[in-house]
Amino acid sequence: MHELPEQTGVIVVGAGFAGAATAWALTRSNCGAGIILEREATLGAHASGRNAGLARQVESDPVTLALSVRSMSHIRRLERERGELLRPTGSLTVASGHGVASLVQDHETCRQAGVPTLFMSARDAKARFRFLERLRFEAALWCPSDGVMDIHALLVRYVKLASGFTLHGGRAADELLIAGGRVVGVRSGTSEVRADAVVDACGAWAGQLSREQSPLPIQPLRRHLFVSGPLDYVERDWPFTWSLDGPFYLRPEGDGLLLSPCDETLCPAGVPPADPSAAHLLAEKLSHHAPGLMDVSLRRTWACLRTFVPDRRPVIGPDAVLPGLFHASALGGFGMTASAAVGELAASFVAGTRPDWIDPDLVAPVRFGRSTKLAVPW
Ligand SMILES: Cc1cc2nc3c(=O)[nH]c(=O)nc-3n(C[C@H](O)[C@H](O)[C@H](O)COP(=O)(O)OP(=O)(O)OC[C@H]3O[C@@H](n4cnc5c(N)ncnc54)[C@H](O)[C@@H]3O)c2cc1C
Repeated sequence: MHELPEQTGVIVVGAGFAGAATAWALTRSNCGAGIILEREATLGAHASGRNAGLARQVESDPVTLALSVRSMSHIRRLERERGELLRPTGSLTVASGHGVASLVQDHETCRQAGVPTLFMSARDAKARFRFLERLRFEAALWCPSDGVMDIHALLVRYVKLASGFTLHGGRAADELLIAGGRVVGVRSGTSEVRADAVVDACGAWAGQLSREQSPLPIQPLRRHLFVSGPLDYVERDWPFTWSLDGPFYLRPEGDGLLLSPCDETLCPAGVPPADPSAAHLLAEKLSHHAPGLMDVSLRRTWACLRTFVPDRRPVIGPDAVLPGLFHASALGGFGMTASAAVGELAASFVAGTRPDWIDPDLVAPVRFGRSTKLAVPW
């Protein structure tokens, strides 16, 4: 374990996608160097290493969409320079009833954001993607530029490219150092590290360091993923498929499928235990909306936390109360896809520049004010 310095430029707390991409963006812009503190001894121990890997730009919320589209363009450039990260499978979003209107809306929102999509009837979609015969739906939206990310390769690449930052694994930030009403560093165990800026990129633990002075209304929601046993009809290049009916999603994984019942249960920050009722929920959704997948046997499951604030937009920018503290959190279910743009945005706030590609007020922590109540006690 490296010794911690007494003084540094920027302290990034958390080495998930938010923290690693912020450190990379700060390195790239030559406006900050420093350290990353990560409580776990391994990278990706929480959401960033345990997610579904869907690089999905079909987003209804314009802020999430803008971040995802910009992030994907950074990731594609990274791929050109340093090798593949994304399996370019494309994606399908399928829906029936009221959901079809959402698909039409998403088609238009994507068009405005420059993401090509194709709206198709169920008949046309099934003729083009034969496996869709196994699902029940009325319309589909095909997005050819989506894909499945190698999440561990992406996370490691961010950390390696953040060459201005030293990663300290197995080191938690335990407390903020505050002097004259300003954050001036952190305490980690018996060490104190002073810095010009501290970035809270703590995922489900976001806001804990500043909870007394400036609470954030963080809501960690548990979600389950399942991996099936081998299925002889699955082909590795199937697009990942998100059904708004249910909802649920699936994609090829090994010789079988990775599936999620899109469950959401409020949980305290941590590693949530898997709940057997999630398998029943998945089976019920498949029986209604994917009867051709009822032969799937579930071999492996895990649960992990997606972290939100009530408006479901990310929290990126200077703290509302404490100068010297910055946030990059509440990345919900899109934090891997949007990571490169989240890091870029967080880094521009640390550097004191105002981004011109997004309205920063839409993600600013100040939108919650001081009196916000937490959804779950820590
Ligand atoms: C089941 C599931 C499926 C998902 N699927 C997708 C998907 O398909 N596509 C997509 O784009 N996104 C997906 N996501 C969302 C994505 O995984 C998250 O948005 C993203 O990983 C959040 O990154 P983060 O860095 O904010 O959090 P984390 O990955 O949780 O990283 C935070 C880090 O901070 C560390 N930390 C916390 N407190 C401290 C402290 N005091 N000191 C030091 N270190 C600390 C933690 O140990 C952790 O490593 C999914 C999430 C889940 C749970």
